[in-house]
Amino acid sequence: MLITGGAGFIGANFALRAVAAGNQVTVYDALTYAGNSENLLDLVGREEYAFVHADVLDGKALASAMAGCDVVVHFAAESHVDRSITDPAPFVSTNCGGTAMVCEAALQAGVERMVHVSTDEVYGSVDEGSCSEDDRLVPSSPYAASKAASDLIALAYHQTYGLPVVITRSSNNYGPLQYPEKVIPLFVTNLFEGRNVPVYGDGKNVRDWCHVEDNCDAIDLVLRNGELGTVYNVGTGNELTNLELVDRLLKLCDADPALVKMVEDRAGHDRRYSLNTTRVRTLGWAPKWDLDEGLAATVSWYRANRWWWESLRNGDR
Ligand code: NAD
Repeated sequence: MLITGGAGFIGANFALRAVAAGNQVTVYDALTYAGNSENLLDLVGREEYAFVHADVLDGKALASAMAGCDVVVHFAAESHVDRSITDPAPFVSTNCGGTAMVCEAALQAGVERMVHVSTDEVYGSVDEGSCSEDDRLVPSSPYAASKAASDLIALAYHQTYGLPVVITRSSNNYGPLQYPEKVIPLFVTNLFEGRNVPVYGDGKNVRDWCHVEDNCDAIDLVLRNGELGTVYNVGTGNELTNLELVDRLLKLCDADPALVKMVEDRAGHDRRYSLNTTRVRTLGWAPKWDLDEGLAATVSWYRANRWWWESLRNGDR
């Protein structure tokens, strides 16, 4: 199994469980600021594990890493919306160009199956109801647009060349090993340190929260049983406004509500994401984590693993 982006948040969680399940795993990762080899420390030295430090834009390195692989799970991406607003170009190059390179390498290597990992953000903002997989893609941010384009590239590889690819589009993930620029680890680590937490706009933007283990379960299931050329939404229905989320985090961190600071809204900020997940549930997936238990476990993980995030926040790594 080749896992691109396996040193990042979801990819590392997926790689750890893939090795634990007995797979021979190669993690392929450029180790950008978001990639962290410490996420994979538990695998170092194991026979079932190899690491390739390379960019998904490097076709030769991809071809060599993919030789002999049966399956590819493609996580590698620039993933932070705010960074995409400040500097969109790397998002287009890694997410669109990189996905095309991964698809091409997978096709040439003759892999049995590939999962392309995408996001609910490709559907854009939905005021009411939930998005199904065949709905129009109306992405708002450069990040979401680059992911929507990458989905279409993967589907074109299926349609035109028969690449055996499936796509997952999940809602916001949370859990251990998430880089502390994303809202939950950023807020939790700020609250631990008595720092302010910035909430965009009126705080009423709604996101659906999925524990990373539940998303990994869905990716694994779709990898094995998904219909080729098909998209699977992955979401839990745990929809919270940002203010509702912050309220839960304040309580879990035993922090002062005065630390919450409302700040100017993000440009192009989508109001609400919501997914219809009938298709993946028909395959047999259901989330295992209750949101309150998952948030509590996540806060406990960041509390117990200061060594992991303190150096990232201080810019030492
Ligand atoms: P992340 O930013 O934590 O990790 C991304 C990983 O990709 C890092 O290890 C990084 O080093 C690597 N990478 C970046 N550019 C690369 C390149 N050019 N070549 C090789 N490796 C490169 O991201 P994440 O949150 O783990 O997200 C993983 C995937 O899941 C992404 O495709 C993202 O769009 C998607 N997704 C994430 C969420 C979420 O809530 N985090 C939700 C839905 C979908």
